[in-house]
Amino acid sequence: MRIDEALKWAVALLKGGESPSVDAKVLLANALNVNQTYLFTWPDKVLDSQSLHTFQKAVERRRLGEPVAYIIGERDFWTLKLATSPHTLIPRPDTEVLVEQVLKRIPSDVNDQSTSSFSICDLGTGTGAIALALASELPHIHVTGVDFKAQAVALAKQNAVNNGIENVTFLQSDWFSELKAKQFNIIVSNPPYIEDSSDYLLEGDVKFEPRSALTSGEDGLRDIRHIISVSQAHLLTGGLLAFEHGFNQGAAVGELLSKAGFSDIETIKDYGGNDRVTLGRCY
Ligand code: GLN
Repeated sequence: MRIDEALKWAVALLKGGESPSVDAKVLLANALNVNQTYLFTWPDKVLDSQSLHTFQKAVERRRLGEPVAYIIGERDFWTLKLATSPHTLIPRPDTEVLVEQVLKRIPSDVNDQSTSSFSICDLGTGTGAIALALASELPHIHVTGVDFKAQAVALAKQNAVNNGIENVTFLQSDWFSELKAKQFNIIVSNPPYIEDSSDYLLEGDVKFEPRSALTSGEDGLRDIRHIISVSQAHLLTGGLLAFEHGFNQGAAVGELLSKAGFSDIETIKDYGGNDRVTLGRCY
């Protein structure tokens, strides 16, 4: 089978899905271990039997609904290529908004100093996406990423190595449980925030992702509430707490921060125009 024929075959099989054409290209490029440009440059190249077999198996998994990121085992986030696994959430473009907003609030002199004591903590790091994106942009700042799952910590560590990022430490910790005496300039988190009974959990890729990374009580705010209640003890004076949250949770998260005594509270929209990130400072 030729490349163009293989793509056509896969698009037809995946046509009930969300993105047949994109998925077919990503899966074929992965099976052939080439980039997507190769597929357009060599449409008449015939697939060797091993690649064809790999591709057919991948398309079948996708047809049954499995996320592309779990099938090929990676996802691009920020400027990084991250290994993914069913133990963690698949990094999402919206989460880049959280990274951008934190980067905007880094004091300009901090990153110039080669021995900066400025520190950032990423709670519930999963693949390590947020911690690694920040660490890659801020080579003089040390980032700590924690996750309560050992498999996530191992994956995040692997992602640090794969991307050559050294100014980051990942450790297993249930929120701050292993960071008892530690204080940071910035605490950032994309915690679980979906309502336990949300129908969204039954949709597309989401139903393959770990519930523990998605849901957070009846109103989806259980973990955010907890983090806000314990963060002050872990923030230095003027420290920033920054969350990703649900499209309908901006006001509620702002209010929780305000009630807990945070100031300079702001809610920022994602690329789809939905409230997605709320930040506040602790003085
Ligand atoms: N943003 C994710 C989604 O919409 C949810 C991730 C989370 O709960 N942190 O699927």
